[in-house]
Amino acid sequence: MTAVQRYDWDVVVVGASFAGAACALAAAHYGLRVCVIERKRDPGIKLHTTGIIVKEAAEQTWLNRVPAALVQRVERVRLYAPNLRSLSLVAPDYYFLTTDTPNVMRWLADELRSHSVELRLQQSFTNATQDGVGWQVEGLGSTRYLVGADGAKSRVAERANLGRVDDFLYGIEHEFAGLQLPEPDALHCFISKRYAPGYIGWVAQNPTGVQVGLALRHSNAQTRSPDIDGFLQRIRGVVGLPIDATPMATRAGLVPCGGPVSQITAPGVILTGDAAGIVSPVTAGGIHSAWQHGWCVGDAIARYVRDGGEAPEQVAARAAPRFQAKRALRWAYDRFQCDWPFDLFLHSAPLRWAAEQVYFHKRRA
Ligand SMILES: Cc1cc2nc3c(=O)[nH]c(=O)nc-3n(C[C@H](O)[C@H](O)[C@H](O)COP(=O)(O)OP(=O)(O)OC[C@H]3O[C@@H](n4cnc5c(N)ncnc54)[C@H](O)[C@@H]3O)c2cc1C
Repeated sequence: MTAVQRYDWDVVVVGASFAGAACALAAAHYGLRVCVIERKRDPGIKLHTTGIIVKEAAEQTWLNRVPAALVQRVERVRLYAPNLRSLSLVAPDYYFLTTDTPNVMRWLADELRSHSVELRLQQSFTNATQDGVGWQVEGLGSTRYLVGADGAKSRVAERANLGRVDDFLYGIEHEFAGLQLPEPDALHCFISKRYAPGYIGWVAQNPTGVQVGLALRHSNAQTRSPDIDGFLQRIRGVVGLPIDATPMATRAGLVPCGGPVSQITAPGVILTGDAAGIVSPVTAGGIHSAWQHGWCVGDAIARYVRDGGEAPEQVAARAAPRFQAKRALRWAYDRFQCDWPFDLFLHSAPLRWAAEQVYFHKRRA
């Protein structure tokens, strides 16, 4: 019996969102015994993402298989200064996909099942203890590798004594089912130190309705609730949201914004996605990076388990993006954000250039 065969699973992945799905699909591709546990009974509920997918993820990852009915192409960004004057930004070769996110998450769960991954819904990770070179997972059995893809407040990180994310934005979003914006092909982004200090507000058309959200810098010491109702009042008219529109649902959550945590691996255990802090500190976009890193982790584990070679712990640590330039930008934005330069210089060439770098990824990580 090999070291691996004595375990019930080759990989146990905690979390069936983007990072966990990518990791599981990559490992299952090599025929590994993969189990994903997810605490929700339905992966499409209790969402905490707007679900906007950037072009790179839409074209270069498994997400290029998302059914067309679940996505809507957005080719422009309309950027609003605090005084609500706006600028239209376009990159001819770039786009985003807004999504029917609940059904994208359900589709991902179906992809897991149809690729021989054992998906256990409504099963929470509670604890794990080391078992030789692997781990014994409470309520599940033993595994050679344990992967924490369980989000910004990772319990796997806590139980395995790995690094913990402690630098966050807090985002909140209202969903208006069935609405159509007058300008649906633009992602509407609002700069405002009053409503979104440290980030922006946004309005987006998706295949089933409209999402209106904002995020702000989160501080454990001084919690401030985002004024989403005040924000809605302020921007309703400029985006053409009916005065009597009432939200059908709300999404909210923490977004890591300080770069990867100090220690994302220990023997036999690896963090990925939000659990590892792998989110752009500037755009707060984490779907693409979660997918890329999760996939890399699953692939590395599979190669190692099958053929030996480089330890996946090393591969995973090396593959985590450092976001050095973006962390510097985050530092500067946190300290020096003010409204007047955007009011005064929105239409200037340098500001347009800078906005294009951020939105259309013309700058390197
Ligand atoms: C309001 C908001 C809007 C955002 N919008 C965008 C966007 O438009 N585009 C973008 O690219 N990024 C966006 N992000 C960031 C992006 O959503 C995340 O970076 C991405 O979802 C990370 O994926 P993940 O798989 O690492 O973690 P998550 O998506 O957080 O998934 C973690 C999963 O683990 C499960 N889980 C947690 N604990 C346990 C446990 N103990 N046992 C079992 N299961 C558990 C959870 O239920 C969840 O399904 C947004 C974030 C927020 C908060």
